[in-house]
Amino acid sequence: MSNWQEIEKQYYMQVVRRQPVTIVKGQGTKVWDDTGKEYLDFTSGWAVNNIGHCHPAVVKAVQDQAATLMQTSNAYYTIPQLELAKVLIDNSCLDRVFFSNSGAEANEGAVKLARKYGKLKLNGANEVITALNSFHGRTLGMIAATGQPHYQEAWAPLAEGFINVEYDDLDALKRATNDNTCAVMLEPLQGEGGVNVPEEGYLKAVRDWCNQKGILLIFDEIQTGLGRLGTLFGYQSFEVEPDVMTLAKGLGGGAPIGAFLAKEHASVLEPGDHGSTFGGNALTCAAAHASSKYIVDNNVSEKAGIAGSYLKQELNTLKSKYSQITDVRGMGMLIGVGFDTDISGQVVAACTAEGLLLNAVRPNTIRFMPPLTLSVEETDQGISKLSNALDKVLQ
Ligand SMILES: *Cc1c(COP(=O)(O)O)cnc(C)c1O
Repeated sequence: MSNWQEIEKQYYMQVVRRQPVTIVKGQGTKVWDDTGKEYLDFTSGWAVNNIGHCHPAVVKAVQDQAATLMQTSNAYYTIPQLELAKVLIDNSCLDRVFFSNSGAEANEGAVKLARKYGKLKLNGANEVITALNSFHGRTLGMIAATGQPHYQEAWAPLAEGFINVEYDDLDALKRATNDNTCAVMLEPLQGEGGVNVPEEGYLKAVRDWCNQKGILLIFDEIQTGLGRLGTLFGYQSFEVEPDVMTLAKGLGGGAPIGAFLAKEHASVLEPGDHGSTFGGNALTCAAAHASSKYIVDNNVSEKAGIAGSYLKQELNTLKSKYSQITDVRGMGMLIGVGFDTDISGQVVAACTAEGLLLNAVRPNTIRFMPPLTLSVEETDQGISKLSNALDKVLQ
């Protein structure tokens, strides 16, 4: 057997810190490495495999579509693209969609749309207000939108037109708004920033402020969309409708696809304004259609809310056993567990050894983003592995 981890060290750009696991197979919540060891995957391909690894509905859609038509171009109509568009629009408050290949690209499209809106309707306003501790992707544009210095500092000069303000602070957002503001872009619940849930009423107040100023509210639902928070889209959990929404991660059932969606009044892009060779291709759209339709038809979002409450309850039980756990936060199947010291890296490494995959989202916080289809039995197994790992790290 090849030593893939040695090959990586020699051949691959050393930009990611990986766990020492070479994953070769996945099914549902489980994955297996090249030695045959089994893991419970509570990262689900980074909040991607919302209905589990290799869901039969997605596998079949991909196999059938691969044998039929993978790619033509957006110069022609294709059926999977339009079937997917229909599922998303018919089940959301948005009216139109454009498909991209990733989350960052979806956000780039949303910001282009907002700048065009500013040009047409707000006297050329072109600034977008985003939040500190946000995460919007890794392109040159989106690192300026992402309010975290370590994603920005090495790549100056940053793209202009983004102002990062404190999250969950309405006054900071109001102070940053000026005649040049065309939009506010927020995650309804910050994922990468450490699983930060806004105070009750914050997003509603932001919505009111955007209405008052006539500026667009963009929700980056790349992580919160497609059932993750216990509702099909995160905005439904907060009862606040955005003018523009972006999706990716959980959209494709494992296939790489993103989307930006807009209400009719904000749909200002015209022929020639935007495009993509691969965006909206038949193959990934077929996968995303199968996955999204499955989520909608089987009430997966609602079930995720219930399964997430159980997971949270069990994590709170662990909190009462381990004084080093400071809090359990999050919604649905996006949960963070905070520690009183910076031990999340050690905890995640110990969990990996126990056969449980988790993410050290902050030095003092681990993140749970399991498949939405997580069973009670899998939850119990995961909790017991985490408990063993904590015993080892904290002994
Ligand atoms: C992951 C993520 C992105 C970036 O998506 P990519 O597909 O990695 O480009 C953007 N916004 C949020 C909220 C994310 O979680």
